Amino acid sequence: MTLTKTDFKEFLLCDKCLWLKKKRPEEYTPGEFSLFLQKLIKDGYEVEEYVQKLFPGGVFVSGNKETLLARTQELLHGSETIFQATFETNEGLFAKIDILNFNTETRKWDIYEVKASSEIKTDLKHNHIKDVGFQTIVAEDAGTNIGDSYIIYINKEYRRAGEVDINQLFIIENVTEQIKEEKAVVCAEIERALAMLAKDDISRNGCDCLYKSHGQRCDCFHKFNPQVPEYSVHHIVQGNKLRQLLDMGVLEISDIPEDFDLTDIQRDKVTLQKTGRPIVNDEAITETLGQLTFPLYFLDYETYGTPIPLLDGYKTNQQIVFQVSVHKLDADGTLEHFEYLADGLPGATSGLLEALRGCMGPVGSVIVWYEPFEKARNLELAELHPEHRDFLEDINNRVFDLMKVFKEDYQHPDFQGSASIKKVLPVLLPELSYKTLDIQNGTMALSEWEKMIKGGMSDDDIEKTKANLLKYCALDTMAMVEIFEVLRRK
Ligand code: SF4
Repeated sequence: MTLTKTDFKEFLLCDKCLWLKKKRPEEYTPGEFSLFLQKLIKDGYEVEEYVQKLFPGGVFVSGNKETLLARTQELLHGSETIFQATFETNEGLFAKIDILNFNTETRKWDIYEVKASSEIKTDLKHNHIKDVGFQTIVAEDAGTNIGDSYIIYINKEYRRAGEVDINQLFIIENVTEQIKEEKAVVCAEIERALAMLAKDDISRNGCDCLYKSHGQRCDCFHKFNPQVPEYSVHHIVQGNKLRQLLDMGVLEISDIPEDFDLTDIQRDKVTLQKTGRPIVNDEAITETLGQLTFPLYFLDYETYGTPIPLLDGYKTNQQIVFQVSVHKLDADGTLEHFEYLADGLPGATSGLLEALRGCMGPVGSVIVWYEPFEKARNLELAELHPEHRDFLEDINNRVFDLMKVFKEDYQHPDFQGSASIKKVLPVLLPELSYKTLDIQNGTMALSEWEKMIKGGMSDDDIEKTKANLLKYCALDTMAMVEIFEVLRRK
């Protein structure tokens, strides 16, 4: 059976998960192959294309597996730089190397691995050293004389000024010594992965994540633990307390015994599930809302970022604010809506700031959902557009985070422990749904905007995309207005 670098990375995360994926693909739950993941992959390819400019004259290998392998062998005898050089070993290990470069001094091939990140990662989820170690082992086993190893990643301090300066944008780090140190470990892990994949069956009776909190599990969790409910004790406690409950056979939150040691917040969550009734502190909510100043400006941004900065002044992955929706609510109940959507990259944020200044008065609370996001964007915009600094700082001083009410004073069993607007809205206002919209979340929004600005869309499609984006962002702020009204009526 073939073991690719991606398989190996997945094995390091979870052997059972890899086994299911490779041996029982019909049972494997890949989860929704989200737009977010697709964007990460696309970002990776874009970064690779830029890096290739550092190696002029490099030859790109493409085609099916046989062609990739055969062409690589040809190029090893006549080229200096190969992009996507491909190797396979007798054991079934398979690797495509981003850049293989012949070192005329050592007479060996150096490996360059490209990462769309701004650091070399060595944690459990992403270990770039082990990635390169795998590539090295495969290429060497396939008979290639490998020399040094390098990881190329993005310089997080680089700010674009005019054309992208690829020599400033990328950092090339020699990791040969780390690879040497890790090689024996990686070899042993490869052997374990191959042994795992040689098994015809594995135990389906539980997996390691049973004893971890719900955020750490993969989409296969319920394949191995079908007895665990979707919203379970894993959402309330972790560590020793989780282990104690599981050892007692308690999976449902409502089955947690009265005398089990919990914090007040955890106990409230249990009470919610036991009674099925919300816990609402009306007095605190009234007091909080009483501190707001009318008119209220309900504000929401949509943003777009890429590893290669697209605009002058931007760093890697810095978010470009391309859209805003503002609902203005006066004390007498009058509601007005303002919006802005950039047509393209040039002038996107200056147009947005002009629009924002046109609708936001000098007095009134600014209501957002999860304030760190909008506040951080305002600070970045202030840096990029110092002429608007006072205005943006003033907005930040007037921000009120509506989500806080749902963290502190309003809990509902159907929120399932979350205060996200996507959980709160369908419970409080089921009639106001994102589900009927063509664009249903922020990732879809940025992906549609990207398609629109990159060209190739018909005029009709551009108009449809604009309309969909405007509808989506408007619902974000309208939802906050309606949630505010629900709270005010309490
Ligand atoms: S949930 Fe289970 S299958 Fe998934 S990563 Fe955790 S241990 Fe592996």
